[in-house]
Amino acid sequence: MPVSGDGEESVHHPEFPAEADAVVCGGGPGGSTFATLMARMGYRTVVLEREKFPRFHIGESLLPWNVPLFERIGVLAKLKAAGPQVKRGARFYHQGSSFTRPVVFANGIDGDHPSSFQVKRAEFDALLLQHARESGAAVFEEARVTEVFFSADGKRARGVKVLLKGEGEPRSVEAKVVVDATGRDALMARHLGGRRRDPLLDRSAAFAHYDTFKRAEGPTGGDIVVVTTPDGWWWLIPFSDGSVSVGIVMPARRFKERPGTVERLFEESVARTPEVNDLLAGSKRTMDVRAIADYSYSTPRISGDGFCLVGDAACFLDPVFSTGVLLAMESAELAASSVDRALRGKGRVDAADFRDFEKIYRRAVRRFAGFVHGFYQPHMLETFYTSAPNPWIERGVTTVLGGGVFHATLGARFWIFAFHVCAAFMRVAQALRGRGAFERATGIVETQEGP
Ligand SMILES: Cc1cc2nc3c(=O)[nH]c(=O)nc-3n(C[C@H](O)[C@H](O)[C@H](O)COP(=O)(O)OP(=O)(O)OC[C@H]3O[C@@H](n4cnc5c(N)ncnc54)[C@H](O)[C@@H]3O)c2cc1C
Repeated sequence: MPVSGDGEESVHHPEFPAEADAVVCGGGPGGSTFATLMARMGYRTVVLEREKFPRFHIGESLLPWNVPLFERIGVLAKLKAAGPQVKRGARFYHQGSSFTRPVVFANGIDGDHPSSFQVKRAEFDALLLQHARESGAAVFEEARVTEVFFSADGKRARGVKVLLKGEGEPRSVEAKVVVDATGRDALMARHLGGRRRDPLLDRSAAFAHYDTFKRAEGPTGGDIVVVTTPDGWWWLIPFSDGSVSVGIVMPARRFKERPGTVERLFEESVARTPEVNDLLAGSKRTMDVRAIADYSYSTPRISGDGFCLVGDAACFLDPVFSTGVLLAMESAELAASSVDRALRGKGRVDAADFRDFEKIYRRAVRRFAGFVHGFYQPHMLETFYTSAPNPWIERGVTTVLGGGVFHATLGARFWIFAFHVCAAFMRVAQALRGRGAFERATGIVETQEGP
């Protein structure tokens, strides 16, 4: 009986291991990346994934700085062979105004990260998980982790309990390190004192796929389109088969206070947004409208003796700049390198071994978060939509939007700082010319704060 969910019934699991070097809870991009790297380094690695892949997941637009990471984990050729849509940039529009802002990744500071991909996550996540399997990890699907167990003093993670499909009693796996990659389910966050929600980014999303849309001609046809409206913002993410993912992110209260169904809210919002309505003219929705809580959060502690959290299990940022998959995979790579160093050095992993992981990961999140918050602040938003006084500032911003937050060069950091200085001047300019001009143009802030 294979350990993978490759089509055979998963009722008996005779090869289920009682122990491993690393046990990974969750087989999304974060879990698969960690498992691939560990298995390739020769560690006994077990992945426990609750669902049977392929399964739907939202989060379909990837960033250019993800591409070298695909290469580092050895999956780039497989990904390219699957024929994903190439994405060369992003186009931002304001509803009902003349503000537009194209982002061309090739114009980033180093020019080495010109493109990425738009992917259907069911296929993409299955490909990554299969790659982890082919790299040597023991992957169990339909395997729900119910508990992480700790040493008697409650400090060191020792392993997990997992309920396999078709079984009544959970099994145990002991491991030298437990990695929580359970995404927004955030299995371990409770043990660590819960998640800290960002009150400024309390949002929800509704989305669906359509069979086609009016895509731009030429190389920009694969770009993500973002439209800001008084309700929030839309994404349109084109796929290589001609179909498109369409979603709206709005304040969570708009969902709570809606009079009808989410589907009605979504359809009415499409109709109210000419930029989106026009792009979808003549196309057919191919799935039910789904909704998901989209609030941003962080977890005060993301590692300890024998465990760490990666990806959405650790932190989540509003997806306006498509940062989630990159953060998940980069954090997993950082974690794998910390774990490897510790296991090679002393055969166990202590909290102190995750110091670099925490530092680099949190710094990257902060760099992204500065821009995500800015998207909801009039002075940052107007700066973003206005031609920069120096083209290098725009190139610095492009570098961040392409995902260059983990290994930002001094030059990139300088020009990003310059952007923030411009935003500070813009704040003064907005105050002098009277409050509200840009807010009314975008609607975002008024919607957030109420009329
Ligand atoms: C509305 C919205 C739009 C988004 N758009 C984008 C985008 O365009 N680009 C982008 O990069 N990101 C986007 N994201 C974010 C992106 O989806 C996530 O950041 C990314 O999926 C995180 O990967 P992960 O591996 O940490 O978690 P996930 O991909 O969520 O994987 C976690 C896995 O853990 C499994 N699991 C959960 N609990 C258990 C358990 N107890 N036992 C075993 N398995 C378990 C789940 O089944 C799942 O497969 C978006 C998010 C939202 C909400």
